[in-house]
Amino acid sequence: MKKFQVAIIGGGVIGSSIARELSRYDVSVVVFESGSDVASQASKANSGVIHSGINSPPYSLKARLCVEGNRMFQSLAGELGVPVKWVGKFVVAGNEDEIAELEHLKRVGESNGVPGLEILDEAGVKKKEKNISCRGALWVPTAGITSPYQLTIALAENAAENNVKFLLETKVIGLKKQAQKFFVNTTKGGFLADVVVNAAGVFCRDIVAMLEEPDFNVYPCRGEYLVLDKSYSWLVRSMVYPVPPKHTGVLGIHITPTIEGNILLGPSAEFINEDEDTRTTREAMISLLKHAKEMVPVVPDNAVINAYSGIRSKLASAENGGWADFRIEESRNTPGLINILGIESPGLTAAPAIAKEAIGIIAGLIVLKEKGSFKSNRARVNRFSGLLETERAKMIEKDSKWGRVVCRCEQVTEREVTDALSNPLGARTLSSVKYRCRAGMGRCQGGFCTPHIVRIMKDNFGMDVIDIKLKSPNSTLFTGRVREVREHG
Ligand SMILES: Cc1cc2nc3c(=O)[nH]c(=O)nc-3n(C[C@H](O)[C@H](O)[C@H](O)COP(=O)(O)OP(=O)(O)OC[C@H]3O[C@@H](n4cnc5c(N)ncnc54)[C@H](O)[C@@H]3O)c2cc1C
Repeated sequence: MKKFQVAIIGGGVIGSSIARELSRYDVSVVVFESGSDVASQASKANSGVIHSGINSPPYSLKARLCVEGNRMFQSLAGELGVPVKWVGKFVVAGNEDEIAELEHLKRVGESNGVPGLEILDEAGVKKKEKNISCRGALWVPTAGITSPYQLTIALAENAAENNVKFLLETKVIGLKKQAQKFFVNTTKGGFLADVVVNAAGVFCRDIVAMLEEPDFNVYPCRGEYLVLDKSYSWLVRSMVYPVPPKHTGVLGIHITPTIEGNILLGPSAEFINEDEDTRTTREAMISLLKHAKEMVPVVPDNAVINAYSGIRSKLASAENGGWADFRIEESRNTPGLINILGIESPGLTAAPAIAKEAIGIIAGLIVLKEKGSFKSNRARVNRFSGLLETERAKMIEKDSKWGRVVCRCEQVTEREVTDALSNPLGARTLSSVKYRCRAGMGRCQGGFCTPHIVRIMKDNFGMDVIDIKLKSPNSTLFTGRVREVREHG
């Protein structure tokens, strides 16, 4: 049976951040991820906002780790080659009562150590963002945006390059502790570990329940989004948030530019019964457009190219106000089990700081000796579309695959698709390609490039077309070969 010193359950941004942080040390680490790739749940379906820390009560773990995470982002993103833009955010007030709320948010932010907060009147806002309609706004210059899935993929791939083992499509189905060792039962067999890190997101309670009676519940809360076509990127350059609705534990429907140049409207907030119910609904779509127009009236109805949703892992129910702090702790009843619980927003922002916190606990359980071979930098993957003509010509001369455009909308070449499929995690679904090089993310949403990517998977990677998946182990794409079907039919 394979043995690892640390077993991490979950390859979201939290599990991947902890894995990458642990890969600095001479310690054997495995990550079990039930999906076909990392970032298969909340870590790919969120706003991608690097929060500043104005929204969590002073002295909460959420406030401290958000502010710390925000500060850590610049150097982390640089090391990993992940895009970050410090676009800033406006929290807009529609009336005098809400102006008083802005003063409150400013005070909270300042006591959390957030710099540069400023309340602007209507004219001051218009000077910066002419399309916002409001009475005034709080300007938050340290808020930024990133690509949440690119970040998670980069963390995981860098960890893998530093010898962390990632086992995809491997679900943990049982845990037992005997004689100081954990026996981890998975869909791909059994493993032994000294320390188990529970980073299973909305499923964190199921993991605890495998070993002991959990002292908490998880209340899944769905957030739906609309994605606007890139040609509407002029609507806003900064993020636009409302004053947070009271007693909901969420920040309200906002307008957010993405790193890729689209605009997001969302997220809604609906407490649901199913952990995996990521449907998108007509009611939410109508409500997202309505709320967005209250802040930016020129938001058009006909610019939507996609919709998606993500599930918040909340430790407080709607009846109890929906807000609870993060929990990052070793279980009292099961020493060696480190639980990372209730990591809803600002979990993406706080991820680097949460990882440090977890490492602090792990260091009390096993010896962590830094290894000299740790590679902190990940080679930046070139986007062909972002290069000058002369640079492109040089690349094509070296490898003709740079000259074959596979995805017309996003101008992604065959070489970029091949590089995406050669990832160190061994992730090989259409989504793995999409999230690594953007093929399939444009206006036609994969209509043109899918057959080309399938051909590359078959010809260059020897994959059987029948086995190719869209995104998860169960999402098969094809029923069979047309000729075989005809012959038998
Ligand atoms: C709508 C929405 C908007 C948000 N916006 C922001 C934002 O703008 N900024 C911000 O800072 N934060 C934001 N967040 C919060 C942020 O997305 C989360 O805090 C973060 O992604 C949580 O990461 P995670 O790794 O804990 O969970 P996940 O990404 O859900 O990862 C958990 C992983 O564990 C795996 N898993 C579960 N059970 C098992 C098992 N038994 N065996 C193996 N694998 C298993 C799952 O497949 C999953 O991949 C938002 C969240 C949502 C839902």
